[in-house]
Amino acid sequence: MASQEDVFKKLVAHCKEYGFVFPSSEIYDGLGAVYDYGQMGVELKNNIKKYWWDSMVLLHENVVGIDAAIFMHPTTWKASGHVDAFNDPLIDNKDSKKRYRADVLIEDHLAKFDEKINKECEKAAKRFGESFDREMFCQTNPRVLENVAKRDAIHSRFVAALEASDLAELKQIIVDCEIVCPISGTKNWTDVRQFNLMFSTEMGSTADGAMKIYLRPETAQGIFVNYLNVQKTGRMKVPFGICQIGKAFRNEIVARQFIFRMREFEQMEMQFFVRPGEELKWFEHWKQFRLRWHKALGLGDEKYRFHDHDKLAHYANAATDIEFQMPFGFKEVEGIHSRTDFDLSSHEKYSGKNIKYFDPEINESYTPYVIETSIGVDRMFLSIMSAAYNEEQLEGGDSRVVLKLPAVLAPVKVCVMPLVKKDGLPEKAREIMNDLKFDYKCAYDEKDSIGKRYRRQDAVGTPFCITVDHQTLEDNCVTIRHRDTMEQQRVAISDLHNIIGAEVNMKNLFKRIVE
Ligand code: ATP
Repeated sequence: MASQEDVFKKLVAHCKEYGFVFPSSEIYDGLGAVYDYGQMGVELKNNIKKYWWDSMVLLHENVVGIDAAIFMHPTTWKASGHVDAFNDPLIDNKDSKKRYRADVLIEDHLAKFDEKINKECEKAAKRFGESFDREMFCQTNPRVLENVAKRDAIHSRFVAALEASDLAELKQIIVDCEIVCPISGTKNWTDVRQFNLMFSTEMGSTADGAMKIYLRPETAQGIFVNYLNVQKTGRMKVPFGICQIGKAFRNEIVARQFIFRMREFEQMEMQFFVRPGEELKWFEHWKQFRLRWHKALGLGDEKYRFHDHDKLAHYANAATDIEFQMPFGFKEVEGIHSRTDFDLSSHEKYSGKNIKYFDPEINESYTPYVIETSIGVDRMFLSIMSAAYNEEQLEGGDSRVVLKLPAVLAPVKVCVMPLVKKDGLPEKAREIMNDLKFDYKCAYDEKDSIGKRYRRQDAVGTPFCITVDHQTLEDNCVTIRHRDTMEQQRVAISDLHNIIGAEVNMKNLFKRIVE
């Protein structure tokens, strides 16, 4: 079986070969951690965004959207804490000249203890068979206990160092744990330094009149500074939410792993404004709603888990990540945070404007508390692609690569194919396509054998292929072929809408996620 690393490499190659994702400005050898979406990728990306947007604004009458500018007044980023504290601790290996995030090096080291513990458990499970009691084993086995103790000791030093922003201690942990550079294999490290992740540029034409401004590192602040505009003009009552989809920019230190960590990416964020004291109830509510949204896609419930934060940001009183099982392990796709009144209070302080909400039900003014749900479109894209990518051996020694994308998200829903390029079949195929194209993204293909055409559609995840043959001209029936099962059915042209619609309608997913 291919290793997960090989699978990931193949996935990246597949994304390029079939027009999903290209390296940015590739003819100039690309630009680090910046990618372009191709003709297939953009459709999938748009469908993901629609699924998210509609799940917010259609399913909740108290959630509305906005589209704020990327550029914001620079004081925004002072107030949000990004100018002073949006830093990553970086460290360089002097031999390989490679740069790493010190926290990630330590986290990866910690994960190795978990791997060792898991291996011990798996070995024991095999030995003891059905009678194996994992919990008991972990509490008593000396090797497991030793690894847990080592991991916990490093972990608590690590958390304390992060909380105190103690860079010397982070370096000391790396030294004490004898962490080596994966490229050079040496322990020849520089000191740890802080690195601000915001990109800046200048606005204004004259040198002395120019103002340093930032490319937003998150979309959330555009929502905070507009919350009262929306509340007043939309006559919203707390609790209510504002959502937004848009680009964000971070000068990531370590930008590997394809579109998992990019310097320019897209976020889908919602800030939900609640009465102080009710935030943990809403935190729990949105946690569950967001997980249902993910699971409704049918990629496999076991691929998701919550990861509660060890170290809460100074403004948060609860935070969790939804992690997805990528080919390189469980990784954060979405963050759900209870941000208290930190952002709004801070904007009030820095702007000198009163941005309190008057609650008519209790006759009181207060600064609302905020629950945030924040998901990266690109990470979501990657998780869907990695779950969908399949290499299958078929009967007769044949094989195929098939993207088992959720049908609602597939870039192309239907490919219409005349069996041959003559006898009026292309005309009939066009006629069918001209009817379907108002509702579904369709493709037309008349080149090569039907088998080859099926493979091409499998590779881009098209859920349905429709073949028009000579019989069609007589009985108005076509063959519809299903991507995952490869099953073929003879159906009336007039039934196509119902068959396709039943699988690609987002409504079916929405029904699964509303309570
Ligand atoms: P990480 O710890 O992986 O850097 P984060 O905790 O800084 O992520 P948030 O600030 O919570 O991320 O951003 C919310 C979401 O935005 C993330 O869950 C992720 O999906 C997405 N995201 C953040 N940074 C990037 C990036 N560099 N490239 C692509 N997506 C990103």
